[in-house]
Amino acid sequence: MREEQESIISILSGNTPLPNGEIITNRSSKHNRELTRTYLSDLISDLNLTPEIQNYKMPNLNPLIDLLFNPFSGANVYTILPSTTKSDEYIILGAHFDTERNCPGAIDNATGVALIYSVLHQLTTLEKRDKNVIVIFFDQEEEDLIGSQAFAKYCKKEALNIHSVHTFDTMGWDRDNDKAVELELPSESLESLYSSHANALDIPFHITKVNSTDHQSFRALGYNAIGLTDEYANGDYAPYKDTENDTYDTVNFEYLESCTNLVYSAIKDLVTQ
Ligand SMILES: [Zn+2]
Repeated sequence: MREEQESIISILSGNTPLPNGEIITNRSSKHNRELTRTYLSDLISDLNLTPEIQNYKMPNLNPLIDLLFNPFSGANVYTILPSTTKSDEYIILGAHFDTERNCPGAIDNATGVALIYSVLHQLTTLEKRDKNVIVIFFDQEEEDLIGSQAFAKYCKKEALNIHSVHTFDTMGWDRDNDKAVELELPSESLESLYSSHANALDIPFHITKVNSTDHQSFRALGYNAIGLTDEYANGDYAPYKDTENDTYDTVNFEYLESCTNLVYSAIKDLVTQ
């Protein structure tokens, strides 16, 4: 898992070139986001799953964001890992792939992308899955959660039977090495799920009301959602977030692995019940 996550974050943050020699310098410009989508689609294909692209146009309702971006146009990348029991229920795991301008975005949020990819990879090896799993990499989180809003809207329109939505943002910083995670606005059922697995793995957690990332887009449409991050509200969080210093060498891979183990353990539990 460590090697897989190192490779994904190294390429996404421009520390290593893509196989074709191009370098992703940030994931904000149109060209770089396109390169990123191609790379993420290839990663999905590597697991013998089918990559899907959701192209969208969304109105810009925020006067603080340049109105030149009206409407926003972007594209999410996702895949569906089917249940083995013909279930119609879905679990959604999401992480945004875009960055602020001029930010390599190693921790924010190549770590979230690598986390859900490794969880997906492990879920493919289960013999029995009682729920379908959608793994989605959101575009334009940094522009007001536009990509996740577009996908939440799509889920409503398609009337998908969604059990729960789990989003991950900025999971690579742990200065005090306590491995603690932040659970943002969990429902009662998701709080009990994550707290029992965290306790079993000896991982401390804090429950907060932070809503400034993708899980909010789903909660706003009535879905059962949770966000996970490093200790944002508690102060032990990535200090170089949204700057040019959010680089590969600042990622705490041991912490990312611990977070990934927690999430896999919780999601495996949900998928096999
Ligand atoms: Zn983020």
